[in-house]
Amino acid sequence: MDKIVLASGNKKKLRELSQILNNFRIELIPQSEFNVEDAVEDGLTFVENAIKKARHACQLTGLPAIADDSGIEVDFLNGRPGIYSARFAGENASDEDNLQKLLESIQNAPESQRTARYQCVIVFMRHAEDPTPIICQAHWQGRLLDHKVGDGGFGYDPIFFCEQRNKTAAQMTPEEKSTISHRGLALAKFQQQFSKLYN
Ligand code: IMP
Repeated sequence: MDKIVLASGNKKKLRELSQILNNFRIELIPQSEFNVEDAVEDGLTFVENAIKKARHACQLTGLPAIADDSGIEVDFLNGRPGIYSARFAGENASDEDNLQKLLESIQNAPESQRTARYQCVIVFMRHAEDPTPIICQAHWQGRLLDHKVGDGGFGYDPIFFCEQRNKTAAQMTPEEKSTISHRGLALAKFQQQFSKLYN
């Protein structure tokens, strides 16, 4: 079985990706098992940051690597917090701190500017100098509420309202969320691209 490193310590991401890669007889190993610390995310785009994470994991393990980078863009805030979503309220901010900061930042936003979208980029690199990484990108359009609804999901999900389903991301089961989410759609694209490489 081929080994691929996941450039993240997130257990949910590991589970989701492992399921997909199962079809390809790939063993996905989190970078923490190789004592790889998180890469410095100083890129200015989701794509740059995902590449930095994947390249860092390839460099330190000598194996192919998969990384993702994601965040939320809010129209009233001209696209912020975007690539800074995980640290919107500060370097070591919790999901709850970040959500509260977002609620404060949009409290004067008119309804028409409460539109927002989650973005996700997934990158696969065969080696640290891979000049043609697989790059898959998807987004999920929604609208921000002024209070939390639902207790599933994570991050900004309790205020991210999906018009199509008439509920917040936090009111969805993980399965429902992944059929329409930025990460679910990017993963579906990734699966297609990856099968061209591995079949
Ligand atoms: P990263 O891609 O793991 O660096 O995380 C980016 C940040 O974007 C997360 O910490 C969350 O704040 C936010 N985010 C990304 N995807 C989601 C999602 O599906 N739900 C809620 N928040 C998300």
